[in-house]
Amino acid sequence: MKKDFAVIGLGRFGGSICKELSDKGMHVLAIDSDETKVNEYKNIAYHAVGLDATDEDALKEIGITNFDHVIVAIGENIQASILAAVILTDLEIRRITVKAQNDYHEKILNRIGVHHVVHPERDMGKRLAHSFISNNILEYLELSNEHSIVEVIAGKKMIGKNLITLDVRAKFGCNIVAIKRGSEIDVSPEADEPLHEGDILIVIGADQDINRFEKAFIFD
Ligand code: ATP
Repeated sequence: MKKDFAVIGLGRFGGSICKELSDKGMHVLAIDSDETKVNEYKNIAYHAVGLDATDEDALKEIGITNFDHVIVAIGENIQASILAAVILTDLEIRRITVKAQNDYHEKILNRIGVHHVVHPERDMGKRLAHSFISNNILEYLELSNEHSIVEVIAGKKMIGKNLITLDVRAKFGCNIVAIKRGSEIDVSPEADEPLHEGDILIVIGADQDINRFEKAFIFD
């Protein structure tokens, strides 16, 4: 089902979301107070309009309440970002995502009732830091302050062993939910299937449990 998106703020972050959604065939309304940005996105998004997102009447006039998902990607002007978020939550938009500039901004956005607060610079920093720790960590996705999903290359100690003998859930409290082998991904891995060299494990769990698992098996 096609969703209708509105992206407010066409800087690097909002612009990239707008391009990506449009490339995937989604209907995107691109919004910015800067007419140069609006003109730039006229040929990329389904529609582009120039308006100040802190102006409630202007937002209502373009029918913002009809959109399934509104993304606010106003960065430096934190006041404008917060004000736009308040207006959108008051208008009971179905889904609101707002980019936070710092932790205080994030806290306020959460308090206002924004459904999804993103902090791309901080999150990318965290993901990169995890991948710098070991060449075996390929991906890291934070689920909450204490839980994550990581994608790791099976350590040498795991090769030839199966999920029963490794007993990761009982020993470490985390779960191997899928195994990637070449271009295949097994989302329901057989417990008695031995692991191969180069297998990529997708592990979900509490951060401290995943850390213990990584120390035991991944960091060779
Ligand atoms: P990025 O890092 O994604 O490039 P940024 O953090 O530098 O973004 P800004 O450049 O400050 O963020 O803002 C992104 C866009 O939001 C700009 O194109 C700006 O014109 C637009 N913008 C700022 N305030 C408003 C507003 N009140 N209404 C609509 N658009 C706005």
